[in-house]
Amino acid sequence: MYDASNITLPDGKLFVGGEWETGTGAEITSIFPADGSVNRVLHGASRADGERAIARAIAAQADPAWRGLKPHERARFLYAIADGIEANIDRIAVIQSRDTGKTLSETRALAGSAAGTFRYFGAVLETSDEDLTVQRGNALTLSVFEPLGLVAAITPWNSPIASDAQKIAPALAAGNAVLLKPASWSPLVSLELARIVEEAGLPKGLFSVLPGAGREIGNLLVEHPDIARVSFTGGTSTGRMLARQAAEKLMPVSLELGGKSPTIVFEDADINQTIAGVMFGVFSSTGQSCIAGARLFVQRSIYDEFVPKLVAATKRLKVGHPFDPATQVASMVHFEHRDSVAQYVTMARAEGAEVLCGGEAPDGDEYKNGAYYLPTILAGVGNDARICREEVFGPVLVVLPFDDEADVIAQSNDNDYGLASGLWTRDFPKAWRVGRAISTGTVWVNTYKQFSISTPFGGEKDSGMGREKGREGMRAYMAQKSFYVDLIGAPHPWAGAALEAS
Ligand code: NAD
Repeated sequence: MYDASNITLPDGKLFVGGEWETGTGAEITSIFPADGSVNRVLHGASRADGERAIARAIAAQADPAWRGLKPHERARFLYAIADGIEANIDRIAVIQSRDTGKTLSETRALAGSAAGTFRYFGAVLETSDEDLTVQRGNALTLSVFEPLGLVAAITPWNSPIASDAQKIAPALAAGNAVLLKPASWSPLVSLELARIVEEAGLPKGLFSVLPGAGREIGNLLVEHPDIARVSFTGGTSTGRMLARQAAEKLMPVSLELGGKSPTIVFEDADINQTIAGVMFGVFSSTGQSCIAGARLFVQRSIYDEFVPKLVAATKRLKVGHPFDPATQVASMVHFEHRDSVAQYVTMARAEGAEVLCGGEAPDGDEYKNGAYYLPTILAGVGNDARICREEVFGPVLVVLPFDDEADVIAQSNDNDYGLASGLWTRDFPKAWRVGRAISTGTVWVNTYKQFSISTPFGGEKDSGMGREKGREGMRAYMAQKSFYVDLIGAPHPWAGAALEAS
């Protein structure tokens, strides 16, 4: 068991426009869901705290000391933040594991990914060109990109430091000030990130971390006239509400929302590779992942051979403490969330689902105080059952048979979500055909949940709009401005005789 006793947690002060201040909003209690102990009780940001952060951000963003930096000079801050994250990786991992219950191996990987994201956008900033456009008249035409001003980032609790970085890094690279509102269940790791950003020397006021109630501080950030863009990751119903508010002030938003991703196993798939990939795809992160492969379609010809093997392997997964290196499935983020997952399983049973494994909290002393739930596999319901249509956001997999390509494409697409999908087959042309026919923003072929910062990510349908990551990710936080510069130096002929008479 990893000994984390020497790691102190952030003291709970908020980072309000570069100043560490006690929040004046509602109380937030961060718990360690593996044993129910309290990490920290803090006060979230009130509207007044948010207003102060916004005023400081306006001043900092307009300051020539920031506005006047060349891209390669701005990039230095991103590299320094990346270095700071890497130097503190163990500390960040422990704080995030305490906040969310995730295994240390996962939180270390998330911190590493956040460092990589800052480094990548530093490099994008240094290597992005502006456009000299093809001349079609008597003017030199060019198009340049400028910061939007103030950007709000609103993030969920499931992968805080990585999802924070995916918004903060491109937005800062683009020259904006950023106000981050993390979820109330995971405020501490984002506050730790603020400490690292401060130590990296980013000018005061350009970055704020404002945990607090969505209805209070979240609403302020969306509605405030000085916020020029909101980048949101979270649930579909919250995202839809934000989009309506944003429409009122004609503000662009990017929305990374929920999913109910199909994983498809064809009869020619490599069985062991597929079982490992399916389990990783849905049960890693204890299923609390927007891209979790939660609907599993298995070709009918191998269904009776494949499913029992998958169930047997799932029962052998190690459920345990997040600090135990052997743990594959750790506790869930919160007791309330564990109970909501359990209710979904109860509902599925009422819909006629058969529980092939799991379906309850694990038994034993090591689990009794934590928010644990066993990896669960359900079968015996159709694709129209609620358990197949709604996002559970927990370690719950539903298995369904299919007959052929046309059948599985129709069943996969018969869902409101369109975030990701996984295809398991040795037949590449088939994977290509099916992948092109499925309405999801990402398709994995013989792999799952692999990520690269250089590859754009986002959803179709109710899974969101806009893309993050990739070189174009930075441009989403910029305003494009085009110039026409006259090359003739003579009066416009339209003025004609009128000009001579004057
Ligand atoms: P959530 O929608 O409840 O909350 C997300 C964030 O929005 C939190 O910071 C929350 O405080 C804030 N918020 C809530 N109400 C608000 C309001 N009225 N105005 C402004 N902000 C408000 O989601 P959650 O439970 O924290 O996270 C789980 C959800 O996130 C799942 O649906 C999951 O699929 C989704 N998610 C999506 C992606 C993706 O990239 N597509 C990644 C991770 C998680």
